[in-house]
Amino acid sequence: MLKKNGWKDIAEGNLIDKPATALDYKTGSWRAFRPLWIKENCIHCKFCWLYCPDMAIKIEGDKMTGFIYDYCKGCGICAKVCPAKKTAIEMKKETECK
Ligand code: SF4
Ligand code: SF4
Repeated sequence: MLKKNGWKDIAEGNLIDKPATALDYKTGSWRAFRPLWIKENCIHCKFCWLYCPDMAIKIEGDKMTGFIYDYCKGCGICAKVCPAKKTAIEMKKETECK
C-alpha cells in the first residue's frame, strides 16, 4: 500500500511578492464606443454595475455616479441591461466624443 504524503513532504514553494491585479491594465484605449450617462434618467438600480465585466461603473454610497473610462472597453452591456424607462446610458462612437 502506498504511503500518502503529509504536508511536511511537500517541497517548499515561493511566495509571490505582489498578487496579480488588473488595475495595472488600463483597457479603456481599446474602446470604439463610449457609454454616456444620462443622469436625470437613472433610477440607480445598479444593474450596470452588476453586469459590467470590467468593474467600470462608479458607485458612491448606493448611487451610480458614472464610468471609470480607464477600464471601460465599450462593450455596451451596461446600456443593454439598463432598465430605465428613458435610456440612462447611451453608447456613442469614440470618434464623436470630445
Ligand atoms: S442600469 Fe441604468 S438606471 Fe440602473 S444604475 Fe445603471 S444607468 Fe442607472
Ligand atoms: S461599456 Fe462595457 S465595460 Fe464599459 S461600463 Fe459599460 S459594461 Fe462596463
